[in-house]
Formats: sequence, C-alpha cells, structure tokens
Amino acid sequence: MSDIEVKKIIKPMLASDGAGVKLKRSIGVEPNYFDPFLMLDEFGSDSKDDYIGGFPAHPHRGIETVTYMLQGEFEHEDSTGAKGRMKSGDVQWMKTGSGIIHSEMPAMSEGTLHGFQLWINMPANLKMSKPNYIYIDAEQMQTHKDEEKIVKVIAGKFEQAEGPVKKHNVEPVYLDIELKKNKEFNFELPSTHNSFIYLIKGEIKIGKHHHQKVENSKLILLEKGSKLKVFGSTDSKFLLIAGKPIGEQIARGGPFVMNTKQEILQAVEDYHKGTFVK
Ligand code: FE
Repeated sequence: MSDIEVKKIIKPMLASDGAGVKLKRSIGVEPNYFDPFLMLDEFGSDSKDDYIGGFPAHPHRGIETVTYMLQGEFEHEDSTGAKGRMKSGDVQWMKTGSGIIHSEMPAMSEGTLHGFQLWINMPANLKMSKPNYIYIDAEQMQTHKDEEKIVKVIAGKFEQAEGPVKKHNVEPVYLDIELKKNKEFNFELPSTHNSFIYLIKGEIKIGKHHHQKVENSKLILLEKGSKLKVFGSTDSKFLLIAGKPIGEQIARGGPFVMNTKQEILQAVEDYHKGTFVK
C-alpha cells in the first residue's frame, strides 16, 4: 500500500462563463486534462451581480456534468423535459451523452451562491448514448458523522455511507469532508485512479512528505497511490474527487467533448441544423 502524496498545487484562475457568472476554474485551463476530469469550476459570490445572469440555454455532448450546490438555489430545465429546482446541498449528475440543451438560472435575487461544477469525460462507446440523470436530494445524501469529521458521499463509499452512482465506467469517488482541527482523515483509493482535493476552507497537510502550505480555494492534484492521509491544521472543508482514467484521445469544442475534431464539427452542425437532440 503506497501513500498518496501531493503532485501539484494549483491556484484557480478567475474566469466567467454563461451570462457572465464569475467563477474560479482549476481543472480545465487548457491544455490541462486530468483524465477523466475535464473541468472543475467553483462558482459563487455574495454579490448578485456576479451570478444573476446564470447559464442560459446551451448544449452539451460527450460529457457528464456534476453540479453540487453548497449554498443557494438554481432553476434548471432541459431538452429531455426535466425541470426542477436545486437547493442547498443538492447534486445533479447529468450524463449528457449524445446531447442535451439546458439552462441553469439562479432562483434567487440576493444572498450567497456557492457551488461546484465538475465535468467528467465519457468514453467513445458512451458519448452518443441517451442522456440520463441522477438527482441527489440533500436530505437523501448518505453521510458519515463522528466526533472528528462529517463525510457526505456523492459517489463512492465511506464507512457505511454510499453514493447512488453505481456501475459507472470511471468508478467515481466524490466526497465532501469537514474535518476538525488536529484530526486526520484516512481513505483508501484504487491505485488506478487519478485523484484531487479541492480545499474550500481551512488549512490541511497531505501525505507524509513536506509540501507547500495549502489553504482556501486551492486545487491539489494527488499522485497515484492507495493510502490517503489528510491532517487538518485548522478546521477545514474540502472535496475529494477521484476516477479511473479513460485513456482516449480527446477533442474539445466549448461545451462538446468528443474524440476527434470531425465529431466536434458534427456536433456544431447538428446544433445549427436543429438535429442535435436525438
Ligand atoms: Fe451546462
């Protein structure tokens, strides 16, 4: 069993997407591709001007988008007819497959909005599959609690708590961890997986080796390995995300991620011809 150490610490870049929503982008600053993860955005602000424009109707093909609302509410609507309101703590896990057109708009006109959107690549054999959703209601999310930590399980398993995403090709792990000061979080990961931690708040130490101090809104890419040890230098909150690499060539074109340039051109053509939604 090898200990997992820090590979690289990335300070997210300020970016904006949709209709001017301000966000911090860590994975996805091209050509960075941390297989199978294509993008990670932290969005949110206390100021409505930073998010009120939302994400008006736009298409996706060939990826999965996982939206995790920590605080605030979003109204979503898409071309499969699905419609709903995401509230604080909810997760929407969307497999766009061959294509979906959706909008994600804030259902609030004041207050704090805070959340994450992760893009996971889909392998060639699933890129043109039928769109599919998993919705995880905050109240139904399985959670482990003890004196030292609270672990919410969006995907994977921690102790008795398990996420609803099963039989997934990248065998994803997605945990939200609150760790008390001077306590340790230990987790076993498959050594096949690429993994990272997104530190939302606090200060932590990872593995046995020395590494640069990490605090607040930092992405920490991890080396492959099996034993992860995180020490809380202060009370902290972080996400642990991991998945098995797909290992295929990718071609990116905005909201479409395929294997070849030709397939990107096809997606753009389908969208303009109105034949995008199968
Ligand atoms: Fe989207």
